[in-house]
Amino acid sequence: MNRFENQAAIVTGAGRGIGEAIAKRLAGEGAKIAVVSRTESNSVRTAEAINAAHPGCARPYAVDVADFDAVQKTGEQIIADFGRCDVLVNNAGITRDTLAMRMSSEDWDVVLDTNLKGAFNFIRSMLRPMVKQRSGRIINISSVSGLMGLAGQANYAASKAGLIGMSKSIAREIASRGITVNVIAPGFIETDMTSVLGEEVRKGALAQIPLSKFGAGEDIAAAVAFLASPEASFITGQVLAVDGGMSM
Ligand code: NDP
Repeated sequence: MNRFENQAAIVTGAGRGIGEAIAKRLAGEGAKIAVVSRTESNSVRTAEAINAAHPGCARPYAVDVADFDAVQKTGEQIIADFGRCDVLVNNAGITRDTLAMRMSSEDWDVVLDTNLKGAFNFIRSMLRPMVKQRSGRIINISSVSGLMGLAGQANYAASKAGLIGMSKSIAREIASRGITVNVIAPGFIETDMTSVLGEEVRKGALAQIPLSKFGAGEDIAAAVAFLASPEASFITGQVLAVDGGMSM
């Protein structure tokens, strides 16, 4: 299927993990990809892997999504390079897990700045081009933690729940311009982020997942591809949980 032929997609946090899987999936369906990561070597590696399979398809960009001015500049560069932006996937995210009683002001700020403000920064940079095109798909990657709350994740859950409210507000603002904004809430997915979990925590998580397994980045990528596709043109302001049933 080449559902995204002649389209350009931005995927943040595409240097590894879920974002890398999303970038590869959209490229596999014909999209040109702006591979955004914080660490240049990571965005270059993903872009090279995509270009090996689909020559000339991907370009790497290194930026801290939390930096408003730097993101506006990167956004302008991406529009200069690709001429358009059809799909924006805000996937970059971090955790700084600890109990609220021990959480520092820095733990709070860096998670909110990256996960929530980072998504706002990229949306802000792409709204004008998308409004001008009178089309666009914005997909924000939240978390089961933003739906249910998880102990040790007050900062992370707040950022991920915040993404949902922000997405619904912006969805209402720009629906009339042919732009949709949706949210995917992944459950536990095998990536670097979850590889640090201890055996006990993994066991506890598995016990809460009706499908009794962690997901793969490709499970999230498939949901992104659907929400970015023409089949999802009447869907906006929604949250799709891809979590093995954990949050039902
Ligand atoms: P990883 O830790 O594997 O990868 C995170 C990606 O985000 C990296 O590419 C990283 O860049 C990028 N990133 C982090 N901070 C910044 C920043 N300030 N500026 C730019 N890029 C940044 O995470 P996952 O793939 O596991 O997670 C991806 C998303 O999915 C996150 O938003 C996460 O919260 C969410 N999620 C993940 C779940 C899981 O179980 N894995 C569950 C639910 C949600 P670099 O590589 O250059 O450092």
